Amino acid sequence: MPITANDPNRKTWLHISPDSHFPIQNIPFGVFLTKDDIITVGTRIGDYAIDLGALHQLGYFDGIPLTDDIFLQDTLNDFISDGKKTWRLVRNRIAEIFDTENDTLKNNKKDQEIIIFQMSEVEMQLPVYIGDYTDFYSSIEHATNVGTMFRDPNNALLPNWLHIPVGYHGRSSSIIPSGIPVHRPMGQTLPAGADAPVFGPSKLVDFELEMAFITTDANHLGEPIPVDEAEDYIFGLVVFNDWSARDIQKWEYVPLGPFLAKNFASSISPWIVTLDALEPYRCDSPKPLKPQLPYLQYSGQKSFDIKLEAAITPEGGESTTVSKSNFKYMYWNMAQQLAHHTVNGCPVNSGDMMGSGTISGKTRDSFGSMLELTWRGENPIQMSDGTERKFIDDYDTVTMTGYCDNGTTKIGFGEVSTKLLPTFKK
Ligand code: MN
Repeated sequence: MPITANDPNRKTWLHISPDSHFPIQNIPFGVFLTKDDIITVGTRIGDYAIDLGALHQLGYFDGIPLTDDIFLQDTLNDFISDGKKTWRLVRNRIAEIFDTENDTLKNNKKDQEIIIFQMSEVEMQLPVYIGDYTDFYSSIEHATNVGTMFRDPNNALLPNWLHIPVGYHGRSSSIIPSGIPVHRPMGQTLPAGADAPVFGPSKLVDFELEMAFITTDANHLGEPIPVDEAEDYIFGLVVFNDWSARDIQKWEYVPLGPFLAKNFASSISPWIVTLDALEPYRCDSPKPLKPQLPYLQYSGQKSFDIKLEAAITPEGGESTTVSKSNFKYMYWNMAQQLAHHTVNGCPVNSGDMMGSGTISGKTRDSFGSMLELTWRGENPIQMSDGTERKFIDDYDTVTMTGYCDNGTTKIGFGEVSTKLLPTFKK
C-alpha cells in the first residue's frame, strides 16, 4: 500500500511556518490532555494539535477498520497493536483531510472547533505505556571513546562488540516525557584513591543523546524475528535523553552493567514520528569492520539520516549547543537490534521501547555525552554566558532535537527538554 501521506508536493489548508518540524508530510502520533482535561490520542500539524478521537467520532475515518474507542485512550498501545497497515491507512487519511484540495473539514468550522487545538492549549503526555525498555550501545565512536577512557586505548572495543548489538534491560518506570524535571540522584560512589564508597549526590550527572524506537507486538515466546522483517514491527521513533550518573556508574557497573546510574530518569520527545514518515530519509549504515553472522545480515538501506543536537541552558541564561550528531552514525541499525533481541525467542510487545545507545560521531563536536565532550571533565565546555561545564549543573535545562531534511521536505521530532533539579528533599 503506497504511503500517500509522504507526498512532498502536498500542501495543507492549516497555516504552518515553513521551518516547522511538523509539516503535513510528518503526521506523528502522541497523547495529550486538552484544556478541558480530556485525554486523547492526537497528531500534530504545524502548531496545531489534532484530536484523533474527535475526528473518528465525527466519521472522518469511515472505511478504516478501527474500534470506536481506539483513540479515546491514554496511550497509543492499542492503536500500535493494530499493525502497520492500519497506521498507514490512518496517516494517509489524515493527510487527505488536511490537504488544501479537500474542503470537507476546511469548510466545517463547527467540526474544526472540536478537532483542532493550539499546541499551547494542550499538555503532552507519555505516548505509550512502556512495558519493557532496552538500551543498546550501538555507536562505535561512543563505545570506542568510553573504552579508551575507562579501559585501554589499544583495545577500546571489547571482543564481542563488532559481533553483537550489545544492550541491557533498563527500567520503564522512570521514562518521562519532555518538560518533567529530574532530580540529581543520590547514590554510592568511590572517591579517587579511596578504598570504601561514600553516599551522596552524584557529582557527574550527564545526558546521553539517543533515539528510541517503539515496537508493536512482534513475536511469541520462542519465535525470532528475521532481520529483513524487523522494520514491520517498528511503529516509530522519539528523541531520547538517557540521563546518567557517571560516578555512580563507574562504581556499580562491574560485573552486571548499568543499574542505578541509569534508571533514575530517561526523557523522551512526546511525538512518535512513524517509520513510514522517515522513508524518504533512508541511507546506508556504516560498513561492517568484521563479517556479521547471517541472522544480522540485511538487504537494502536500514539507517536513517536524522540530524541530532543537544543544548544546555542555564537557569535564566542563553542556550549553548554542545553536540551535533546524526542517527545514521549507528554501527548497528534498528533492524539488526530487533533481530538480535528476538533471536533467542524473547517476546517484544506493543509499546516496548528500544534506545539506540549514545550516538557519537567521529568529530569532537559530534560526541553525544558530556563524558566524551569534556573527556571525563578534563576539557570543560565554554558556555555562551562565559561559564563552563564539565557535566550538568543544578537548574540547567538539557534540550535535544532531531530532524530530517533532504532538500525537498523537512520533518522533525520537536524536542525533549528537561531541567535538572537538586537532590530530592521531603
Ligand atoms: Mn544509554
